[in-house]
Amino acid sequence: ATPMSIMTATGRGAQKGVLIKNAEALERFAKVDTLIVDKTGTLTEGKPKLVAVLPVAGHVEADVLRLAASLEKGSEHPLAEAIVAGAEERGVLLDKASEFEAVTGMGVKGMVDGKHVALGNAKLLAELGLEGGILVDAADARRDEGETVMFVVFDGQIAGLVSVADPVKETTPGALKALHQLGFRIIMATGDNERTARAVAGRLGIDEIRADVMPEDKARIIRELQEQGHQVAMAGDGVNDAPALAQADVGIAMGTGADVAIESAGFTLVKGNLDGIVRARRLSQATMRNIR
Ligand code: ADP
Ligand code: MG
Repeated sequence: ATPMSIMTATGRGAQKGVLIKNAEALERFAKVDTLIVDKTGTLTEGKPKLVAVLPVAGHVEADVLRLAASLEKGSEHPLAEAIVAGAEERGVLLDKASEFEAVTGMGVKGMVDGKHVALGNAKLLAELGLEGGILVDAADARRDEGETVMFVVFDGQIAGLVSVADPVKETTPGALKALHQLGFRIIMATGDNERTARAVAGRLGIDEIRADVMPEDKARIIRELQEQGHQVAMAGDGVNDAPALAQADVGIAMGTGADVAIESAGFTLVKGNLDGIVRARRLSQATMRNIR
């Protein structure tokens, strides 16, 4: 494309909240056929809220929440913030945690009030040699509503679960419909559970789901699609999306997301919603038409 057509597109994009980092991103995006979208913070608002605390027999709700939130105080994950905020709203006083450890893609561990506490998904349970037991049905029922369930473990025993909900952005359904009409194959990639992912994707017309993925898996999924000859764009917002944004032919960061995601991307959507991708595609196609 000519420098002039790129300047025009960059200016128009900026007016509409689509920041274009370089000419390559603009030129490549016209050829993209596959769009990978992160779930949390990209399709959803990314501000999860605590909606349930379920203790197993022999434990009480207030303790499960207190120990969970005390531990999560040490984590910057959006799920952790939801649990801490939920505890504070319910007037639960937190303790100081020690030996805090984040287990990537699984959860957190540490000591609170003299107890070993762990909190996270089914992978974390497996890592601890535990199974969900009687909580499995309750967990699945919540996941079918699109919630993210975390198990709480005290001293090697499951004490209960906490569940958070993160609503889909108001703009997401319309944007995905438009992106389909533009011809993209849309794949959702998430570190979240398969059932939760299905429930969220269900009404959005997402073509494929890759759930339970570790952060490094997102970049690998993209590499495999590229090896099959696809031109791939990735839309994400999180620190853990940065490698995938860099691997993609075109990385698209939510302006509301992490700085490292924005740095790794060719496009930044200032408003933090997928409508910006529709605009970016039109700008890209218009620029490429001007060359010929
Ligand atoms: P994503 O942002 O796509 O959900 P992550 O790799 O950050 O991917 O998280 C994957 C899963 O690991 C989460 O859905 C959750 O079950 C678990 N997890 C990660 N961090 C935490 C945390 N601080 N507390 C509880 N669970 C966590
Ligand atoms: Mg995210």
